Amino acid sequence: MNKQDYRDMWVYIEHEGGAVHPVSLELCCEIRKIADAAGEKLCAVLVGDLPEEELDRIRACGVDRLLRVRGEGLLPFSVDAYTALFTALCEKYRPTAVFVGGTIRGRDFAPRFACRLPTGCTSDATELVYDPKSGDIEFIEPAVGGKMMAVITVPVMRPQVGTIRPGTFKYLPAGPRPCETVEERFDFPPEKIRTAVLGFEPEENDESLNIADAPVIVCVGNAVKADALPKYRALAARLGGKLACTRPVFDRGLLPFKLVIGQSGAVVKPRLLLSFGVSGAVNHVTGITDSEKIVAINKDPDAAIFHYCDYGIVGDMDEVCEAMLAQLGEKV
Ligand SMILES: Cc1cc2nc3c(=O)[nH]c(=O)nc-3n(C[C@H](O)[C@H](O)[C@H](O)COP(=O)(O)OP(=O)(O)OC[C@H]3O[C@@H](n4cnc5c(N)ncnc54)[C@H](O)[C@@H]3O)c2cc1C
Repeated sequence: MNKQDYRDMWVYIEHEGGAVHPVSLELCCEIRKIADAAGEKLCAVLVGDLPEEELDRIRACGVDRLLRVRGEGLLPFSVDAYTALFTALCEKYRPTAVFVGGTIRGRDFAPRFACRLPTGCTSDATELVYDPKSGDIEFIEPAVGGKMMAVITVPVMRPQVGTIRPGTFKYLPAGPRPCETVEERFDFPPEKIRTAVLGFEPEENDESLNIADAPVIVCVGNAVKADALPKYRALAARLGGKLACTRPVFDRGLLPFKLVIGQSGAVVKPRLLLSFGVSGAVNHVTGITDSEKIVAINKDPDAAIFHYCDYGIVGDMDEVCEAMLAQLGEKV
């Protein structure tokens, strides 16, 4: 394989109900910078149609080319059709890299078409670095339970395929550039699709579970006792914020998965994060680094969380929570 035969960086545009998934826009903004560093074009790959204002949001990221695909059997999404489609598109256009949001959909079809080509696929990267010497992308992600950061490259094969966790990058559009639209037709025989959508039930929109944009977050770690949860909930409410947790708290069945912060959960960016009884594992910390101010409470003075906070309190989490509530005039 001659790497020089491959050009341009692609971002898959995931969309639902006429709106682009935020991760696709975040990726377009970040890959714009990497494509510039590599002297390559940024191409957004869209299957189906979108309203013009959504197309404008994509173009605003500085996309050079919009590759729009229409055809039989492509909608609604199926892993069979998308695997075949991206295999065919990559064989025809030969991009250097294909970036896919690490959503349920993206994690499903990206490794499959990478395997068909065949090339390498890195899953769930939380950082991307372009190496100008090798021309390779470094996909960086926490490994071994968060004890180390793995740097993964696809040094021989092309394209370099990777899924990237939603919320890893910001939607900061660089502004539109001249953008050409290339129309492509691809038909996938519907009888070859091995799955069927039997029904659609929208998720109940419980606003208290949406922590991504909360201005204040009270996060409880594994040290939390089940019967103490109400006071952390009360503290969050008193501060106009929301309750969140680490992964083990969800594993114990105390709080829903949507409240988990970290690598496998949500990325948050509150003005204030109060972190109670959290050790500071990398898998969790990757989700809190955009917080403006972090106050950590842990009884272990050597806990890793103290490396990431602005203010650290060594003490018992329940006692500190109660003291904060009392200070705020709340009955404990
Ligand atoms: C692939 C993968 C993905 C993962 N994704 C995530 C993720 O998205 N989010 C996530 O959170 N984790 C994730 N994890 C798990 C992660 O590695 C850690 O195991 C987890 O974050 C630890 O949670 P914790 O700090 O709450 O618990 P622990 O590690 O059990 O820490 C509890 C802390 O509480 C302190 N403590 C104990 N009693 C008290 C007290 N009375 N008062 C004050 N402090 C006290 C202890 O000193 C300790 O530091 C992932 C792991 C893997 C392998």
